[in-house]
Amino acid sequence: MKNLSRVPRFSYESKNLAEISADVLILPLFDNEKLPKELTDFDKKINNAVKNILDAKDFSGKKNSVLLFHSSGKAKRILLIGLGENKKISMETIRASISNGISALKNISAAKAAIRLSGLDSFASEDLGQAVVETVLLSLYEFTQYKKTDEKKKSYLKEICLLADKKDLSEIKKGGETGEKIARAVILARDLANEPANVVTPATLAEEAVKMAKLNGIKHKILEIKDMKRLGMGALLGVAKGSEEPAKFIILEYKPKLKVKSEELKVQTIVLVGKGITFDSGGISIKPSQSMDEMKYDMAGGATVIGAMQAAAQLILPINLIGLIPSTENLPSGTAQRPGDIVRAMNGKTIEVLNTDAEGRMILADALVYAKKYNPDAVIDFATLTGAIVVAIGEHASGLFSNNENLEKNLKKAGEATGERVWPMPLYEEYFEQIKGDLADIRNIGGKEGGPSTAAKFLEQFTDFPWAHLDIAGTAWTTKPKPYRPKGATGVGVRLIIETLINWE
Ligand SMILES: [Zn+2]
Repeated sequence: MKNLSRVPRFSYESKNLAEISADVLILPLFDNEKLPKELTDFDKKINNAVKNILDAKDFSGKKNSVLLFHSSGKAKRILLIGLGENKKISMETIRASISNGISALKNISAAKAAIRLSGLDSFASEDLGQAVVETVLLSLYEFTQYKKTDEKKKSYLKEICLLADKKDLSEIKKGGETGEKIARAVILARDLANEPANVVTPATLAEEAVKMAKLNGIKHKILEIKDMKRLGMGALLGVAKGSEEPAKFIILEYKPKLKVKSEELKVQTIVLVGKGITFDSGGISIKPSQSMDEMKYDMAGGATVIGAMQAAAQLILPINLIGLIPSTENLPSGTAQRPGDIVRAMNGKTIEVLNTDAEGRMILADALVYAKKYNPDAVIDFATLTGAIVVAIGEHASGLFSNNENLEKNLKKAGEATGERVWPMPLYEEYFEQIKGDLADIRNIGGKEGGPSTAAKFLEQFTDFPWAHLDIAGTAWTTKPKPYRPKGATGVGVRLIIETLINWE
């Protein structure tokens, strides 16, 4: 697997706007607001171009509006981007506006852009720097490695300069450097999930995870089928039976290298679990052919965990972070498991497989039991688990299920901060009635009603620690481009979990 994403170089300056030489100078403006003095002074030097545009009402600063024009100044072009009303500003509005601005430059030969960040005083400079750098990198993302690249595009945005007041510059830069690490991790997660299933098999996913781990000083281990048998991972092995690609259980262990002993700091241990179905045909309970190609992204949860592990290590987060990714294909064949089969999970619980397409919860069951051996302070799983979560809340939030209020609160807060929203869903005891087994302890489907909750209730049977489950079936993939999320894999969860871990309480 090759990574061909263009990653520009970032620089940070506090020069006078008239002194900025760039192919494009990006100026974010609030809707219907008087120009700040710094801009009026600059505008005078370019023959009041901005003032004339505003007077003519060609641009007012409306949310998501952009206007590009050539300038006589040192910066060859000016791009005005609208932030909307000042009183309604949020970090997500900034991200969307910057993303629109970056997209507007796509067909222009601009190698260097500078973005003015002064005047956005409602945000901490560090957060602002981080958000802008993340947005730029994620907006430039394209999955193009199987296409001939356009010669012209090669020169597009090689350098991005963040312009800020002198007093804010070091904080902006600090945030920007964090943002760069996080965005690269999101890009890795997107690449892994966008790759077709003939490239990213369980073996490739394991190889990529090991490659990432070696580069970042993370301990790694891959369990093979014989190890899974020894451990009694019958639920995972049942799913793996239909495929000729051997299943892999990926283990990543990050421990921060801290100067003080970790016991003194009471370093917490968090386990991330990611669903790694590299292709889901549904198995014998086969899916309809329509959009089945998208089922290559059924390992998006695993990709998120690999990305998050990379970011955590690069940011040297003071937390023990474990990544577990059970990975297999789910295919129908003469050796595939059948509806009605009964398997035994690693904790001894028996499961009636009533639908082989409900395979995600099966492989996660064994991974959750395995997580216990780390004596975790919290376990968070990411899984493209149910189509029903997409019906319930669409693609605007991930479904959040948790047995722990504090964990739920931390994730919700991080969701608001990053724009990767999560929405709490119920885990009532009554849902258990729907998954109680006839011939075994539990069954792997709970009927039509409350599908996302019965799936989560199933997972809960394999937890006895603070736990949260994120159903990312609606958020991990998009068929229509959104700000800083082009079509395809979104890498959802990486920014969310890093924000959660940075502010861990
Ligand atoms: Zn499935």
